Amino acid sequence: MSGLKLRGVKKSFGVANVIKGIDLDIEPGEFVVFVGPSGCGKSTLLRLIAGLEDISDGMIEIGNRRVEKLDPAQRGIAMVFQTYALYPHLTVAENMGFALKYSGTSKAEIDSQVKEAARILELDRLLDRKPGQLSGGQRQRVAIGRAIVRHPEVFLFDEPLSNLDAELRVQTRLEIAGLHKSLASTMIYVTHDQVEAMTLADKIVVLRAGLVEQVGSPLALYDNPDNVFVAGFIGSPK
Ligand code: ADP
Ligand code: MG
Repeated sequence: MSGLKLRGVKKSFGVANVIKGIDLDIEPGEFVVFVGPSGCGKSTLLRLIAGLEDISDGMIEIGNRRVEKLDPAQRGIAMVFQTYALYPHLTVAENMGFALKYSGTSKAEIDSQVKEAARILELDRLLDRKPGQLSGGQRQRVAIGRAIVRHPEVFLFDEPLSNLDAELRVQTRLEIAGLHKSLASTMIYVTHDQVEAMTLADKIVVLRAGLVEQVGSPLALYDNPDNVFVAGFIGSPK
């Protein structure tokens, strides 16, 4: 289990300063939710942590290890996207084991990891199906399974529920909370949904235009927002 430390993290795309200097500490095993309006830099910050984009300035530590120069595969993270990003021509089992296949893991070990993740996510009976034969909720569980089999030190979720209907959103949210309990992994979860933030987070990070506006427990932010922006975001659930 690893914590994270960000210091002075910045990211520009050309002349656009998108992430403007973020300092943040995340404890091992903590469930941290990044919230903020569309375009404030939530996905970009997650992608910087994952190594899918290079930072322009600052430093990132994952488990006391500087990672700015490491490839995504070396950072001990796994990311779950809003759009699932499954391979349509591969089965559920093959999708879940895909990353392990190229990390030198034996076939028997991959099978065992995939079975274990399928059990946790109740996908046992769907392992031979293709993504096209699954519902949206099942596809998202496969995407989560693909992260689980890698036993990452840190899970990153980018709005994983936003393509699901209301009922499935609630169900999948509870599953993610259960997963955090059983795996005890560090999780960083991006959403623009106040209810998700309030119910899932140990700690909420409110982002605004590439900067941290306020950090605190859901209750602390709800009871003592620093300003109207935070209050508007946390205090008025949909
Ligand atoms: P959020 O996830 O909070 O909605 P993003 O991190 O996706 O916000 O985007 C933050 C800002 O950075 C937006 O203005 C977006 O247009 C810009 N941005 C993100 N990625 C790129 C990129 N690869 N090139 C240029 N601009 C980008
Ligand atoms: Mg985003």
